[in-house]
Amino acid sequence: MRVGLFGGSFNPIHFGHLRAAEEVREALELDLVYFIPAASPPHKPEGDLAPAEHRLTMVRLATKGNRHFMVSDIEVRRTGRSYTIETVRFFLATLRKPCTLYLMMGLDQFLEFETWREADELVKLTNIVVHTRLNESEPGPPKISVAALDRFGYTRSDDHYVHPSQNTLSFVQTTFLPISATGIRRKLQRGESINYLVPGDIVDYVKRHALY
Ligand code: ATP
Repeated sequence: MRVGLFGGSFNPIHFGHLRAAEEVREALELDLVYFIPAASPPHKPEGDLAPAEHRLTMVRLATKGNRHFMVSDIEVRRTGRSYTIETVRFFLATLRKPCTLYLMMGLDQFLEFETWREADELVKLTNIVVHTRLNESEPGPPKISVAALDRFGYTRSDDHYVHPSQNTLSFVQTTFLPISATGIRRKLQRGESINYLVPGDIVDYVKRHALY
């Protein structure tokens, strides 16, 4: 079984997240993608972070129509800072074998990857797949500092990278919907519509609970 892990603050979840996850799932032929809302993301200020229970419920609502999409409350239940290394260890210990894990993230997150807790251990434990903006004139992996990739022990092999552990680092170009949760929160604060940036259920949920 091939399983993707897609973490984020999902504050709130939007069509950019959903479309990227769908395209990565299709490209890598993943059986399941777990959306994993962070209780308290290490790299983000907490100022306008909606309560984890609300973000979790919104992720459930947004993904419920897709049989490949699952939601994990592991980070929300753990509370405190959400470190991906702990989440990956949890999935490796609990998923039924044989199972290949792919840690999914956008390029913006990957560019900060060196600062993540136990980054060296993470690249040993799991495959990583980074979704990047579709660029028809430049197919293949984006130009990322080779030094950064060397530092983790990756070597290039065709269109992806391989770690001595045999785990891979790959890049999937996806249709980039220029939507951000920050932009959505800003619109809500100004009293503007967020229709068609997020699923209808999320528009209703945000309104009903007066979030943001
Ligand atoms: P914020 O604006 O609050 O920083 P965000 O929408 O950028 O939030 P997160 O919830 O922290 O996102 O992101 C979760 C993951 O989704 C990250 O890996 C990020 O790179 C990716 N992502 C965010 N926005 C998009 C988008 N429009 N298209 C594709 N991927 C995205």
